[in-house]
Amino acid sequence: MSTVVDALIGNVFAATRENRSGELADYIPELAAVAPDSFGICIATVDGYVYEVGDTRLPFTIQSISKPFTYALALADRGSAAVAEKIDVEPSGEPFNEISLDPRTERPRNPMINAGAITAASLVAGPDLDTRFERIRATYSRYAGRDLTFNRSVYESESRTGHRNRAIGHMLRSFDIITGDPDEAVDLYFRQCSIDVTCRDLSVMAATMANNGVNPVTRETVLEPALVERVLSVMSTCGMYDAAGKWVYEVGLPAKSGVGGGIIAVLPGQIGIAVYSPRLDEHGNSVRGVEACRALSAELELHFLHVTRAARSAIRASYSVVDSPSRMRRTPAERAALDDVGKRSRIYELHGDLLFAGAESAVREIGGVETELEVVVVDVRRVDDVGGIAGRMLDSLRDELTRRGCAVALVDPAGMLGYTHSDLSGTSGRVFADLEAALQWSEDTLLDRHCAALRQPAAIDVAQHPVLAGLRPEQLRRLTRDFDIRTFARDEQIIHRGDKACGLFLILSGRVSMRVADSGGAVYRIMTLSTGMTFGEMTMLLDLRFLNDVCADSEVTVAVLPADRYADMAATEPGLKLALLERLAAGAYEQLDVMLRSLLRP
Ligand code: GLN
Repeated sequence: MSTVVDALIGNVFAATRENRSGELADYIPELAAVAPDSFGICIATVDGYVYEVGDTRLPFTIQSISKPFTYALALADRGSAAVAEKIDVEPSGEPFNEISLDPRTERPRNPMINAGAITAASLVAGPDLDTRFERIRATYSRYAGRDLTFNRSVYESESRTGHRNRAIGHMLRSFDIITGDPDEAVDLYFRQCSIDVTCRDLSVMAATMANNGVNPVTRETVLEPALVERVLSVMSTCGMYDAAGKWVYEVGLPAKSGVGGGIIAVLPGQIGIAVYSPRLDEHGNSVRGVEACRALSAELELHFLHVTRAARSAIRASYSVVDSPSRMRRTPAERAALDDVGKRSRIYELHGDLLFAGAESAVREIGGVETELEVVVVDVRRVDDVGGIAGRMLDSLRDELTRRGCAVALVDPAGMLGYTHSDLSGTSGRVFADLEAALQWSEDTLLDRHCAALRQPAAIDVAQHPVLAGLRPEQLRRLTRDFDIRTFARDEQIIHRGDKACGLFLILSGRVSMRVADSGGAVYRIMTLSTGMTFGEMTMLLDLRFLNDVCADSEVTVAVLPADRYADMAATEPGLKLALLERLAAGAYEQLDVMLRSLLRP
């Protein structure tokens, strides 16, 4: 089925096809034997989809498009420093086959002109010519994702007529740029130029560069990212020879052409483009190839210096535990303390790709906050990618906040910043898998600092339970008799959704959570309760069924007032019933407030 993108590329193809200007390369006789009006365009995406229009499966020789790939192999074999001693990276402004070296450095000006490319071929490692060529052929094949073959007749044709390139080889030898046999280096270069590719192959090779060295179809890593950057740099400045400046100005993509009629262009991170059309302009670049790339760049907005928008702040939301409390139910004293000091916490939710600029705005805002912040949580769940520098900036920010006495934590279930949940404490702070846990930790940290004395003890007995506080001694004695003490193991289910009312539960130690499951079976904790809190009262008083599950989050002890005993008590002691109801109603109302605030969580 033809897609929107097929149509866009098809329009460029149709408009460019009319152009029949230019001549076939004939200085290599065999190149003049191709069908002059063949034309194909391919665009390969970094997720491995290839769009094709026209003659995209027709083989032709790669010629100079081989140069960046052999240069990459030389860099990988010898290291950047050793290669830099032999080949410069300055645009020459000269034709590809100029017999020249830079007069000052006495080196070829760049690896995209023949002098630099023959030197790069001479640097490919291997015990003999055949092995070195086989390494080159096998490497190109990995970029293309299929086994590429050698075109012997084009090779022999160039070998018979390539006196100019031999002259370049001998010049390189006389300046000690090539230290071995210059004819062998030139022969290796002729062979690499004579590898057959199709337009489709070239687009996948270009997309492998766009995809940071990983072939998007086979997923094989062909080149390390640091070298991809180097190769794309020289393609940007030198890939189109003496037309390189105009090319960047008009098309704005690292590119490479070949006299076989191919052109590749790379948009880093996005796509690889290949065009095949063998009529050439005076620079040796495909006429339609240049025109199609110019049109594609304009139509699809591909110019690599096109500024879509300035980097936006990486901070998507920021709030305190007052704005958005945890779902941990707190005692009235704790609630009051949190209303007072909760503003000293701040949760920052980051999003997007964190590169330098996004991280800069985030650390400037977080680090520059004037108020006495005591707890900072950085939530990176919505961050798509973290650059090395952004990670280091966030590390420094956390160290700086820690030095200022601030407790810091990350919400980072995917380990984007490289910390696992087991590196829990230490200078880097805590790492949480979900926001709720981080909010509870923020509140606990503030409560420990500011109202430790008021905090609920971890375990109490029935008579100490806050819901019974203020009852007269004889009321308390009468009521506590009716409670049964029960314990539950961690993860044990105390109540199931749909269960009938079974009494009033007072938590004497441990934590329980109210949970609901959605239609897909995902379980949500809607509230966590701890020592001193109650559950089951609404269902009991209204004789309803439970709307949620109740599960033990730790070992739990509860005191249960069964419904029938409550009914007896209510009938005989209306004053006691009233006192108890008032307290339960106050608790329920407070719980509603926390729920409402948690709905505002961004
Ligand atoms: N093999 C050709 C040569 O060296 C390659 C030139 C090119 O594609 N620009 O002349």
